[in-house]
Amino acid sequence: MKIRVGVASDIGQVRERNEDAYLVRDPLFAVADGMGGHRGGNVASDLAIETLGTFRMPDQGAAAALVEDIKRANARVMERGASDRDLRGMGTTVTALVADHARAHVAHVGDSRAYLLRDALQQLTEDHTLVQRMVQEGKLTPEEAGRHPQRSVLTRAVGVEDGLDVDELTLDLHPGDRILLCTDGLTGMLGDTTIERILREEPDPQSAADHLVRAANEAGGEDNVTAVVVDFEEGDGSAERTDTVVSRSQPVSPSSGGGSDGPVGQAGLATTTITISRDEASDDRQAVSAGPAGPPRRRRWIWWVGAVVLVVALALLGTRLYVDRQWYVGESDGRVAIYNGIPTKVLGVHLSHLAEATDLLASRAEQLQPWQNLRDGITANSLGDARSIVSQIRADLAPPQRGTG
Ligand code: CA
Repeated sequence: MKIRVGVASDIGQVRERNEDAYLVRDPLFAVADGMGGHRGGNVASDLAIETLGTFRMPDQGAAAALVEDIKRANARVMERGASDRDLRGMGTTVTALVADHARAHVAHVGDSRAYLLRDALQQLTEDHTLVQRMVQEGKLTPEEAGRHPQRSVLTRAVGVEDGLDVDELTLDLHPGDRILLCTDGLTGMLGDTTIERILREEPDPQSAADHLVRAANEAGGEDNVTAVVVDFEEGDGSAERTDTVVSRSQPVSPSSGGGSDGPVGQAGLATTTITISRDEASDDRQAVSAGPAGPPRRRRWIWWVGAVVLVVALALLGTRLYVDRQWYVGESDGRVAIYNGIPTKVLGVHLSHLAEATDLLASRAEQLQPWQNLRDGITANSLGDARSIVSQIRADLAPPQRGTG
């Protein structure tokens, strides 16, 4: 079987980084969609693709070898995640295809997908997502699942736990078969009908991949989007290209919705770049959960930030209300003065302000035993109380006028 391949990957319209990675290396083709942490998504998908990049076609047992490589990727991503705090909790999907003469083996974990276009478009893989599980349990319709806000919560991913279960399937290839590997940035934006229409409209695999990615961007481009289109034709020979590509997309800027073609598709076959913009992330790929899925990590994170902000705000408000009710007599510019607040600084900020100045010399008051701590502030219960203290200081400082004789 002769193979022709097209591939396109784009950051999309919303995300700050492209955490998708892909592999186009005859006879192995794969997509990986990373998630987690500040840079974990990139690391996880890169590691998985890098591991698959070492795949060697065995004389027999290609499917088992592929599954073995995905399990090795699982171990590597886990190891890396355990050794680096920043990478904890990272994971990745992997959907891989090995062309084995007249057969194709697909191995799969996560919510990226493989489709076969033959008579009709047929989804070969099953999403390992919470919503898919709910569909199987009859709790959601497929339509509801497609729109579900938690549709990205995975029940299985590479790099999350030991004993990874890898789905595999083998199909006999017919000349004219076209297999699409793609990340959820494509299927989240385009329905199967649209995907099928584009695959039929574009006989050239590269044009098909470009068109799919462009359409996903035009539909909103809410996520990184990657499409690998593999065509099987009569004849023999390896994939119709000479170079080996192990790549993630170039960090192309999001193309504008309409108008010119934009940069979509630059990550084509000639691309061997492994550069990627690694800005500070706004990673909102959702949490991977192998068991019953908890709330998505991002929501939990937002919840915690919100709670902390609220507590801090209440503390500040409480402090402010308390401080505003406090008074003390202290010193300002060498004179006795009344302050509203408390005589201290927090993080360099004074928690008081001058309320009333007097003409009494602070240095003289401090010479008198009751007022020697004037500079530290003499607390009062109210403004009236503070004024009484000032009156007392004034009286004490007054030249003795009685009893002289
Ligand atoms: Ca994705």
